[in-house]
Amino acid sequence: MFIRTTSGSVAVFITAAVMAMLTGSMINAPVARAESELPAAVAGDVGGPSQDLAGPYWTAQQPTITTRTDPWPSQAAVVSRLRAYGLDPILEPGYDDPVYEANANLTGQNTPMAAFMLHDTGTNVPANQLLQAHSLPWILTGNKSSAGKTVRAGHFYVDRLGLVYVVYLGRTWHAGVGDSMFGVPADRMNGYSMGVEIESHGGGVQDLTPAQILAASKVAAAALDVAGLGTERAINHKDYAGRKQGKVDTAYDIGWWRAQIAAVRSGGVPALAPGGLGSPPTVAVVSADPKAVSLAAAKPGAAGAYVARYQRALRAYARKLGIRVKTYNPSGITGNFGSETRLLTRVTFKALAVRSRAWRVLWNTTPRNVPNPQLLRKIGLHVIP
Ligand SMILES: [Zn+2]
Repeated sequence: MFIRTTSGSVAVFITAAVMAMLTGSMINAPVARAESELPAAVAGDVGGPSQDLAGPYWTAQQPTITTRTDPWPSQAAVVSRLRAYGLDPILEPGYDDPVYEANANLTGQNTPMAAFMLHDTGTNVPANQLLQAHSLPWILTGNKSSAGKTVRAGHFYVDRLGLVYVVYLGRTWHAGVGDSMFGVPADRMNGYSMGVEIESHGGGVQDLTPAQILAASKVAAAALDVAGLGTERAINHKDYAGRKQGKVDTAYDIGWWRAQIAAVRSGGVPALAPGGLGSPPTVAVVSADPKAVSLAAAKPGAAGAYVARYQRALRAYARKLGIRVKTYNPSGITGNFGSETRLLTRVTFKALAVRSRAWRVLWNTTPRNVPNPQLLRKIGLHVIP
């Protein structure tokens, strides 16, 4: 409303001045930011302001330590569980030092773990220029508390090769402010979660390597195991802090991450999307044997890792027979069983039928555009149900 009187204008002026003061003070209060002050979407966490990672724990008073048993997972259990998943974690000196939990103003909380959080380091460096462990130094020592003390900026770190570093196993800063989830009060997730930083460009760029994805999934599985939590407790940083902080990490949908983690926990191997990670990957549990192909999952209209394996083997075999593969399958290995794959199947099948009587019999008695067990074995694959 605009009031045209002198006194009205003064009143408006004072209100604006008070508002400006309030707004100024709110910049230093991470819990209550005005909508207009939300930061622009940020690439990730590493090198960002420590206060953003701290949330309300930035200046929190150390609570009195109670005699209750601390429900936080034990360090030995976490390390043992990582190894059970076949990881060979690098234990960074200080990973078990209670001083870092104290530096983070989180000592004596006696809070349980309620979630596991996935992060991109978000260094804004293209994947091909990232050093193997680009962000590790900052995660270990670059994050400082309001008192200038070092706070470990996460629990685990996965480098570009998929090596796992144990950064810290107590409570620490990685989540910052965010929404209430799983019964955890808003902005308090640092006291209730562990998180992994995965080395990457950030900013929504899907540049994680298969080794990184598998390693991060195993780390998540191990942490959830020791905390007795289901896979639905795995969250992206953006799922918690997207609204309040504009976080965009990780670049992958949480449903996709949960499928990866569930596959690890059930003993399977997560399948990556054929053709790279640019599109939402198709997730399925596939055999770890790279030659194994499920006939039921490699048929016209299907998509996934088994189709990609079939296409790779079929193309190689057809080439050996002298078939001009490019003519029939210009798109290459796509993981999608479409018309090109049907055609290359038929052409390869026909070439075998021309060469031998047994294959001629098969040619005359079975569908010609779809793989059959004999064809899968002929091109070097292992047939599984
Ligand atoms: Zn993050």
